[in-house]
Amino acid sequence: MRAMLLESPRPVEQSPLRLADIEEPQAGPGEIRVRVRCCGLCHTDLHTVEGDLALPRTPIVPGHQIVGIVDQLGKGVTTFKRGDRVGVPWLYSTDGTCRYCRSATENLCQSARFTGLHVNGGYAEAMVVRQDFTYSLPAQFTDSQAAPLLCAGVIGYRALRMSEAKDGERIGLFGFGASAHIVIQLARHLWMGVYVFTRAETHRQLARELGADWVGSATDQPPDDLDAAIIFAPAGALVLDALRHVRKGGRVILAGITMSAIPEMDYSLIYGERVLRSVANATRQDARDFLALAAKIPVRTEVQMFALEDANHALEAMKHSRIKGAGVLQVSRESL
Ligand SMILES: [Zn+2]
Ligand SMILES: [Zn+2]
Repeated sequence: MRAMLLESPRPVEQSPLRLADIEEPQAGPGEIRVRVRCCGLCHTDLHTVEGDLALPRTPIVPGHQIVGIVDQLGKGVTTFKRGDRVGVPWLYSTDGTCRYCRSATENLCQSARFTGLHVNGGYAEAMVVRQDFTYSLPAQFTDSQAAPLLCAGVIGYRALRMSEAKDGERIGLFGFGASAHIVIQLARHLWMGVYVFTRAETHRQLARELGADWVGSATDQPPDDLDAAIIFAPAGALVLDALRHVRKGGRVILAGITMSAIPEMDYSLIYGERVLRSVANATRQDARDFLALAAKIPVRTEVQMFALEDANHALEAMKHSRIKGAGVLQVSRESL
């Protein structure tokens, strides 16, 4: 089968992913094989191919926002049948036994494995996944519209939840890529005021289209103090900007998996019971809750499609903030 394979990480401009013909995986006990239709691009994919994340194995097929059709059932699979459409996210498996798994924080599991990092992901025509870490997708979303929900959406949902922002409060979004363009829709559904900090003109335009109350740069002064902020861009200096804009008792949430060093800061920036908190992965319950909410609102994802073999080029476009909304790789021609 065709797959975009990462053998040795390097800057995406040097095309670290290579189109390869690899053996089709087989579903083991409790697993299903998914015939991939499309796969969303995530900043974590960029951190994977460029080597910002330690790679547990190479070669590896990245990609963890997978939409596809079940085409093989392993022994004991009862949740899905052949032909079902499913989604596969970042959290690939947990041990189910560690202190985190036992306390409703399986996203922090000691031995969690992640799709496209520990095991081959969705930049390929097929992949294999455990039935209990796979989701049915609301029928109203086409394949390509559903793909960004699986990480950009789920992680954004968890970040918004961690921000503890309530109806009528003001939330700041720093960076406006795939995740923020979904979070703004959740926040507005919950009657929050949304303040967007981004430099890229395409991102500013999309933020306005989606109803941002204010759009500016990270160093601009918004008209009001914020109750909470979520930082999506991996730039540590934004932490100081966000803390400067949140009120006493305000929360600043870091949604990225990596970030450049956070500059030294004066204690007064965080004094006043301001809270700084990172988000790491998401639980299966987050995914279920978010998919139901996305269908109810309904969330509308803006997607830009790329061919599977253009994955390097697509990741480069994302790196330079040239994608409006979310980038998605079209893997199968049947994909909608
Ligand atoms: Zn992701
Ligand atoms: Zn665990």
